[in-house]
Amino acid sequence: MPTSFSQLVQLCQRLEGTQKRKEKMRLLGDFLLSLHEGEIAPAVYLLLGTIFSTQDPRTLDVSWKSLQEVGAGVKPASTGSASDGLTVLEVHQIFSEVAKASGKGSRKEKGELLEKLFNRASREEARILRKIIFGEMRHGVGEGMMLKALSEAGDVDHQLVERAQMFTGDLGELARIALTQGGVGLVKISLHLFHPVQPMLAQLGEDFSSLIAEHQGKTALEYKLDGARVQIHKGGKEVRIFSRHLKEVTESIPEITTQIHKEIQAKEAIFDGEVIATNSQGKPLPFQELMRRFRRVHKVELSMKEVPVRLFLFDLLYMNGRSLIDLSYKERWKCLKEISPEDLLVPRIITGEISEAKSFLKEATISGHEGLMAKSLESPYTPGARGKRWFKIKPAETLDLVIVAADWGSGRREGWLSNYHLACRDSETGEYWVIGKTFKGLTDEEFIQMTKDLQNLKISETPYTVSVKPQIVVEIAYNEIQRSPKYESGFALRFARFTRIREDKTPREADTLTRLKDLYQRQFQYKGRIE
Ligand code: ATP
Repeated sequence: MPTSFSQLVQLCQRLEGTQKRKEKMRLLGDFLLSLHEGEIAPAVYLLLGTIFSTQDPRTLDVSWKSLQEVGAGVKPASTGSASDGLTVLEVHQIFSEVAKASGKGSRKEKGELLEKLFNRASREEARILRKIIFGEMRHGVGEGMMLKALSEAGDVDHQLVERAQMFTGDLGELARIALTQGGVGLVKISLHLFHPVQPMLAQLGEDFSSLIAEHQGKTALEYKLDGARVQIHKGGKEVRIFSRHLKEVTESIPEITTQIHKEIQAKEAIFDGEVIATNSQGKPLPFQELMRRFRRVHKVELSMKEVPVRLFLFDLLYMNGRSLIDLSYKERWKCLKEISPEDLLVPRIITGEISEAKSFLKEATISGHEGLMAKSLESPYTPGARGKRWFKIKPAETLDLVIVAADWGSGRREGWLSNYHLACRDSETGEYWVIGKTFKGLTDEEFIQMTKDLQNLKISETPYTVSVKPQIVVEIAYNEIQRSPKYESGFALRFARFTRIREDKTPREADTLTRLKDLYQRQFQYKGRIE
């Protein structure tokens, strides 16, 4: 018997009804174990409100307004209380069709599909469908709890589940393997050509002396380039390029494929690197310019001329049939050097001297780059992990936050949604906590575009404020984190201002409440910052 959508809805209601973590995990585990193999991944995406895998480029592109238009808003109490036998797979299938509709006439097509879906749903099912569409589940189950529930339900070691998640980054697929093959299946998840893995991440470094000490007296300093992370897989005649979110971007940067074919001296390789946009003299351009390139899939030749890109490589994960991730940074870099020409490698020095590190940082920022990365010479490549093996050193303090609401502006900003409510994420429950508001740092053009984008994400509104689906991630600079009763989170940012819109980040990657608390504490430990 296929699993009915109403069973998933009942689970959501039960999850909403309890605050107890153990109970939530038990409910989730029982439900997941009751599913057929093919239902597991779709159910996980629906429960997390992502609809598809986070690596899947598809989106529904449905606004609150269009839901209202097809009568999928709140149903009157007198109608539609009975379900029409919708199954989990059917709901997933209909969402796939909605996402597929594109181009001329797609709004109507999406509307018709949604109308059919909501007509078959009971009132409670419609409520949960709306929450799924807007990624607003609020039942307290985020990625962290899902991973714990999987290790309990599948009776597999939690570390093994976490390791597998770092490789795949696809919770639905991971759940399927954990629940149907257990530990045996999870161990097999590792590095393979043309299967991108989560990139290794960095922690914010405090000062050179502590990070050099952390790296046993010597560290590898590399330019921190302000571009887009790329993972490049080369296998014989084929080259495929993946973004930080493991989405394929090969087609938007064909010149990189050509370059890899021409310049790399290895039959098979997986590289980690960064692509930056440059002007005609090769100087780095702002990140926003590069994003224009990545959005383009048509008329690529034109944008190749308008926004030239340059590739820098900084790691080698695989070479000629062999995974290198367990080798040390030193050894991986040696292999990288053997197969890549010098001008493809990120500028770097190895040092234990603070003065040398400081002048290298100056050199990087003067050349238009963001700062430095400091990498431990002895460290393996740990996919998806953020730790002390890699530090990033940036002159300004910033947080990546999610816009969850916006106030209508007045005066010069009349007619624009202009004061943005900025939230960090609770990684365990998936909830968002507001820690500040700002209207500073955007251009008029960006205000206009943001107003449009936010209206498409509208969930509810009052005369002053529009609440939106948490989707847009922005980088915010600030001077200080303060304790404050003003927001439920208990924290507030002082002098928050926009530095950029992070189109390359999903809300899942926004900074967390845990990180915020940590940064707050650290303000008292360290005075000043790396100059
Ligand atoms: P940020 O917001 O500072 O870009 P992030 O959250 O995107 O950080 P982090 O792991 O914290 O990711 O910082 C490393 C990022 O910096 C990488 O994802 C990559 O895109 C970029 N980067 C630039 N130069 C390098 C380099 N030499 N080595 C590693 N990453 C680099």
